[in-house]
Amino acid sequence: MKKIFIYLLPTIGCFIVGASASLFQRSALAEWYPLLEKTVLTPPNMVFPIVWCALYICIGLSLSLILAKPERHRLIAALWGVQLLLNFLWSVLFFYARNPLAGLLDILLLDAAVVAYICVSYPVRKVSAWLFAPYLLWLVLATYMNGYVYCNNPDTVSLKNHTVMTHEMPKLPYAADALAPAMSKETIDYHYGKHLQTYIDNLNKLIAGTPYAEMTLDEIVKSSDGAIFNNAAQTWNHTFFFDTLTPAQKAMPEKLATLLTKEFGSVESFQEQFGKAALGLFGSGWVWLAADKQGKLHIEAMPNAGNPLTKSMKPLLTLDVWEHAYYIDYRNRRADFVKAFWSLVDWDKVAARV
Ligand code: MN
Repeated sequence: MKKIFIYLLPTIGCFIVGASASLFQRSALAEWYPLLEKTVLTPPNMVFPIVWCALYICIGLSLSLILAKPERHRLIAALWGVQLLLNFLWSVLFFYARNPLAGLLDILLLDAAVVAYICVSYPVRKVSAWLFAPYLLWLVLATYMNGYVYCNNPDTVSLKNHTVMTHEMPKLPYAADALAPAMSKETIDYHYGKHLQTYIDNLNKLIAGTPYAEMTLDEIVKSSDGAIFNNAAQTWNHTFFFDTLTPAQKAMPEKLATLLTKEFGSVESFQEQFGKAALGLFGSGWVWLAADKQGKLHIEAMPNAGNPLTKSMKPLLTLDVWEHAYYIDYRNRRADFVKAFWSLVDWDKVAARV
């Protein structure tokens, strides 16, 4: 009877830890985990419980074999307990707190505890050490997966705020008639007052009750698709577009002029290439000046609600070339609208984003 108890206890302990960990993981697995950028080595979700069940039997059996020996090995049992605790803590830190950095630090400690357990148990009972081998292999993979998530999702640490966001109309930094005649009050009334308002209303309706309701606008743009992406990106793009216009244009800061000259030959040449991209974009879309991860500047013509955040680029300047942006003032003359746009750009704001 006592022997059965010795064999059952560690295995039951493992399963209790596993079951409570899965409770901590549940909501994160449904809402948060699918949105993360993960390594291609990540197995499908259904693989995890199967692997863990098999591993917990091995881990439990490993300690049982030690305990079954007549002499007591307190150090080995203590190390076993420590690794199980660190194992549980990982679910709390990674999935419940949604903090990939804390998860990574914990899993590194877990790796060390498991290696220590293997080293200490090997001289006492070789089988016990060998039963930890598949666990160690799995942990190496898990450490890599956690590290990958941490490196590629730097914004996720603060994600667990559980506050629902309502997106609101941005304030214009000028009066509705201040940009006339380059951009009339009527255009602002329709473009800002009606088109943008509709995108924001639609976005709030579409995200209600979904994981997107807890995300910032940037996070939604980066992780959504379909109607939610279209309305989120249009909200982002218009907010950025209107914010970068000014009725009192100042000279371009030297820093920006130097960068544009370095990349495009001269400021004039940049404007020419940007204008060409705007005229060449078929149908509706946005032309962007954006910086890649190395800081190199690019002109990107993106159809529909396109936004450089989806290409891991930093937006610096944008021009809306949807017909609704210029039809009232310029009818079908997109080229004239582009020309007028250059007299409205707030270069200080563009320079501050570089
Ligand atoms: Mn627009």
